[in-house]
Parts: sequence; C-alpha cells; structure tokens
Amino acid sequence: MSLSGLSYCPRAGQDHERRTVTAALPDYDVTDPAALALPREQLRAIQDERLRAMVRYVYERSPFWRRKLTEAEVRPEEIEGIADLARLPFTSRTELDAEQSAHPPFGEYTCSSREQWMGLFTTSGTSGRKLKRVVSRRDWRLMLDRFYRHPAPPPGEMFMLLGPVDGLLGPAVGVEAMRERGAIPVLAGTWDTRTKVLAIAELRPGAIAGAASYIIHLAEVAQEMGVDLASCGLRAVTSFGEPGAAVDATHAAIAERYGVGEIIDGYGLTEVWPLGGNCPFSAALHIADDLAAVECVDPDSGEQLPEGETGEIVFTNLIGDTQPLLRYRSRDVGQLTFSTPCACGSTVTRIERIEGRTDDMIWYRGANFFPSAVEEIVRSHPELTPEYRIVLDDGRRGLPVVTIQVEAASGTGAPEALRDPLRAALRSGLGVNPEVEVLAAGSLPRAQQSKARRVLDRRAGRSATVRGSGMSRRAQRDQGS
Ligand SMILES: [Zn+2]
Repeated sequence: MSLSGLSYCPRAGQDHERRTVTAALPDYDVTDPAALALPREQLRAIQDERLRAMVRYVYERSPFWRRKLTEAEVRPEEIEGIADLARLPFTSRTELDAEQSAHPPFGEYTCSSREQWMGLFTTSGTSGRKLKRVVSRRDWRLMLDRFYRHPAPPPGEMFMLLGPVDGLLGPAVGVEAMRERGAIPVLAGTWDTRTKVLAIAELRPGAIAGAASYIIHLAEVAQEMGVDLASCGLRAVTSFGEPGAAVDATHAAIAERYGVGEIIDGYGLTEVWPLGGNCPFSAALHIADDLAAVECVDPDSGEQLPEGETGEIVFTNLIGDTQPLLRYRSRDVGQLTFSTPCACGSTVTRIERIEGRTDDMIWYRGANFFPSAVEEIVRSHPELTPEYRIVLDDGRRGLPVVTIQVEAASGTGAPEALRDPLRAALRSGLGVNPEVEVLAAGSLPRAQQSKARRVLDRRAGRSATVRGSGMSRRAQRDQGS
C-alpha cells in the first residue's frame, strides 16, 4: 500500500502498521467568503483533499472507525475523494448511542485527547439519553470563524435568544460568534414568555432567535398583552430546530406578526457541525460544502439518489478533529440542489427544504406525509390560529385514524363551517383523508421554548406523546442491527 502524498506522515511509503507518528488534520482556513462561490470542480477538489485526510485521520485515531472501515473492507489509502464516499459505511444515531454505552462516556469514535477540548455539549431534548458531543478548541475556533462569513450585525445591536443556550452547540457557537462581532446577546431562555415580550418592546433587539413554533406562540402572547411586535424595531428573525423560512405560510405568519423582511433558518447537527442556513434569495439551506460533504440517499436501500430526488440527508464531517463522523444519517428528509448556483452567487449544495425526520413520517392507509405538510396547509387558512396537532388513534380493523386538530381564530364564526374546506385542502395537499376537529382558540398546547410536539400518538402500545408516528423502517433496522 502507498501512503505517499500524506504531508503529515514523514515515513510515507512504509507499512502504516509500524508507524509511530500520529495523524493530525491540517489547520484549515475557513474564513474566505469566496470559497462558497467557487466553481463546483474547485469546491470538489477541496472536498476530495479534506476527505482523504479525514479518512486516514479517523482510521489512525479511533478504534471505532478502524473497526468500521475494516468491516467495510476499506483501506484508508484507497479513498481518493468524494467519488469514493459510497464505499464508506454509514453511521447512525443509534450506533453512536450504543458506542457511548459500550465505551463510556464518549465512545471510541472520539479522536482527540481531553487536553485539547474546550467543552462538552449534548443533543437537545429535556429527558432521555443524551449523546455527548465534545469539541476541541481547534474545532470551536473553526466554528466561530465560519460565522465571519455572515453579514455583520450593526455594532451595538442586541439580539435575543428565546430558548436555552447552555450545553447546546448551535446556540452556544452562535452567541459567542455574534459577541465576537460586536453584537450584544440577550439570553432570555429562562424568562417566561410575557417577560420576553416586554423585553423585546423595551430593549428593541435587532434580531431574535428561537424555534419557529415558539416564535409564533410568542407573537400570540404579545397580541393578548396588547404589544405590537411589528413596531418594536426588529430587523430579522432566526428559526432553528424547525423551518421558519422554508414553510411559506409560517414565513408569512412570522413576517406579518414581527414586521420583518429577513427570516432565516439556521441548520446544523450537534453530532456533525453548524452547517448553514438560507440566504435572502432562497429559503433553501446552504450547506458549507468545504466543512461537510452532503449526500441524499434512499432511506431504505441507502443508495445515493440523483439531484432533486427526495431522500434522507447524509453528512460527512470534513474538518473536525474531535468526533468527526463519516456518512452520518441525519434522519432529515429533503432534496439537494448543486448543479446550478443560487441567485446569491453561492455554488454550495442546498437542501431545498427539510420535509421532516424519517421517524416523523406518518404512514396512513398506504400513503405517507410529514407534519410540516399539515403545517403549510393549516397556516394558509387565516381563519385558523397557527396551532395544530396530529392525533393518531386505533381505528376499526387495526387501521389507524388520523385526526388533525386545529383552532378557530377568535371571531371567525362557527367551527363547523371551517371544517369542510380545511378537510378538502388536507385531502388534496396530503393525498390522504384525515378527520378534522376544529377547537376553540387556545385549546391546544403551545410550544414551550423549543420545538412544538405536533403528534399525539394514542394507539395501544405507543407512548402517550411522541414526536413521530412510531419507528420508521430505517429506525427499526438500526435497532435490529
Ligand atoms: Zn443563496
């Protein structure tokens, strides 16, 4: 085998089993904004180089990766670039959880030593097992550097974080990066919703950030309090954790209630990296191709899908040195665009829209749909509030019954009159025919700080409230493997 061309290995060409030199990743510069508008071939060349270095790095540093690559019969030196991605094994969340249990606390896929770390983060969610994500000072710096590609906020501008920050990678990096750039973070995560409304009116932050469903709930509370958020001087609203800009009706609701033109979806995975967001010209999520390689695969077969087809999004971390993941299955479902540049000039890969998680997909009488599709339809009916819930019950003959619960906005007349048009819209939009229940405004539970729970599964043998409709076929396979 040949190891020539590896700059980190002074004994290139010798059997790597006898090497004593430890692989390290180069110090990449990620601050040049021009890198995201390079011709595709040049972007691809950067990816090729970084993938080669990454595969060799994880093989040498991590027993977990050495095992996986050996099982997949891949020798690191055989991986020449992105064209070889499909030869690499997938990684799943289930597998990482199992690995952290088997080799506590961080798992053997951790490639750097404790002396290099700056902190520990976890995946979000308030209960249950959390995946532990450690970050080196090098990786933290690279994450902060990336934010320098975003337009700077005006000096002295306040921005308010509506949800928790501590322990969460995306919000923590965002706050630190904005602080470095001269903006003033207001960490409002521990305040109740009414206090946040009063603070927005008094402090007049230029931007607020939180999960879209909570942002909408906050606007509702403001209305009850008689506070007009549209006159509070906001410039931008950022949603993370769920789409705010990418669902047209949600975008319109936020734009109107907050009086802002700029609505941004931030996107990233704690397990991978903060990855990108949309631009002023497009609601598609622009993925930093120089930081992560992105693929779209068939959720069942794992085969790579052509551009534009809907499938599961898979990420390969190209630069992180601490817990880098190859071919990590995000469980997010969407479509990729990369052969044409965005109107903003960016040539990076875009995810047109995250439709949902593979495990949120609801199967109903032979068809399937995502909660986000219900959201789009409900929020395009102004006679309804933006809230909705999808309830799954056991029906006769073992078939599930799906009921979409919505709320009549105050003063919109009889609920019965709202039901039939909504049912028709759902039928044509989803391709299934769910039951519809129109409730009084304020009946449904509101988002508390983070993503809303939109699915209530009351079928026998299911947990009382889950986000998804039960396990996807993919999740079942992960658990069985
Ligand atoms: Zn763009």
